[in-house]
Amino acid sequence: MTIDTCDFKGKKVIVRVDFNVPLDENGNITDDTRIRGALPTLKKVLAEGGALIIMSHMGRPKKNPDPKFSLRQIVPAVSEKLGVPVQFCDDCQKAQAQAAALKDGEVLLLENLRFYEEETGKPRGEFASDEEKAAAKKALKEKQKEFTKTLASYADIYINDAFGTAHRKHASTAIIADYFDQDHKMFGYLMEKEVAAVNKVMNDIRHPFTAIMGGSKVSSKIEIIENLLNKVDNLILTGGMTYTFKKANGGQIGKSICEDDFLNLALEIEKKAKEKGVNLVIAEDAKCGDDFKNDCNVQYCPADAIPEGWEGMDIGPKAMETFAKVIKESKTILWNGPAGVFEMDNFTAGSRAVAEAICEATANGAFSLIGGGDSVACINKFGMADKVSYVSTGGGALLEAIEGKVLPGIAAIKGE
Ligand code: AMP
Repeated sequence: MTIDTCDFKGKKVIVRVDFNVPLDENGNITDDTRIRGALPTLKKVLAEGGALIIMSHMGRPKKNPDPKFSLRQIVPAVSEKLGVPVQFCDDCQKAQAQAAALKDGEVLLLENLRFYEEETGKPRGEFASDEEKAAAKKALKEKQKEFTKTLASYADIYINDAFGTAHRKHASTAIIADYFDQDHKMFGYLMEKEVAAVNKVMNDIRHPFTAIMGGSKVSSKIEIIENLLNKVDNLILTGGMTYTFKKANGGQIGKSICEDDFLNLALEIEKKAKEKGVNLVIAEDAKCGDDFKNDCNVQYCPADAIPEGWEGMDIGPKAMETFAKVIKESKTILWNGPAGVFEMDNFTAGSRAVAEAICEATANGAFSLIGGGDSVACINKFGMADKVSYVSTGGGALLEAIEGKVLPGIAAIKGE
């Protein structure tokens, strides 16, 4: 069943969204992208005459309740954006009466699912031993079934529109789907778009395919880098991980960020790239600073000849040119992770050059997918989000999908 073919008239529809929006200290939403992302799905159900029960997590609460993470804070914003008043239930396990009383076109938002440890299935607290922890986890699994059943009992139809948590096998993102048959569960529009974008990059590749992987560390991205080596024509490795590669090859990297435990792995990646005919591109020059601050002294150096006391904080002009050339000649582009410390204005130029080249390639017909928190922040900071093909809302979920892993949230809807 799909959201476009389902008949919602007179039905209660429970929708898992990702309303994990950032709040300031007064509880004001500082970025409402996630709420806006779920609106097409929510509005569709209402327009078709269904009643909505919306559920989400927010942050990582440590107790129940935990007012700092209460979804009550976002009720006015959701009401305003949906254009209908939103009712609130301050315990997601005690919504039976409110859900039953909902009329067509009405909306109920449930309190933060993660107030209950049953949502994630991870027991809270300290444990004296691994055995004790394992026993607590086992007991919690049993309670999780009851928790999930209660959520499922509120509705006739389940929609998952929370791509950001699709890589988690949580009660509301995956397990709940077991309580609905194939005709009564489906993806929301956001999830449909995300799944289509990932499929396009992984299965419908036009060559040359270029992946740009940046950010601070090799270690956190190793699986995806290895997976990409089987797919891409060009692999640009940038950001902080540059210096692990330079040091592995005997370069001088000053005090640049480096993972000494991964030097051999860096050489292995280079070897594998060669074997597979992948053009591995790593910056030849760097913009270096003498302190990890925006207003430090700067100089440009070869990325493998950085003087003592200096660190590479962005790519240099030569690398910008090299990267841009490769990107502009590509037909499929995946970008995850900035080329430098883009949060500091004096070190954004490299990430901006990457973003501009991606926009130009996209204008010339390439398909570009931007994903992972920091590259999304970059593309938003530069105001270029509408000049790329797709900006993914899911960092971890996107990377796991690209690694080739089956996402529990997706498998559960497909009935796999
Ligand atoms: P990650 O979370 O691994 O994707 O890394 C993102 C972070 O990497 C951003 O906060 C950047 O500031 C940081 N980063 C990028 N380039 C460098 C660099 N050359 N040195 C230190 N940090 C960097």
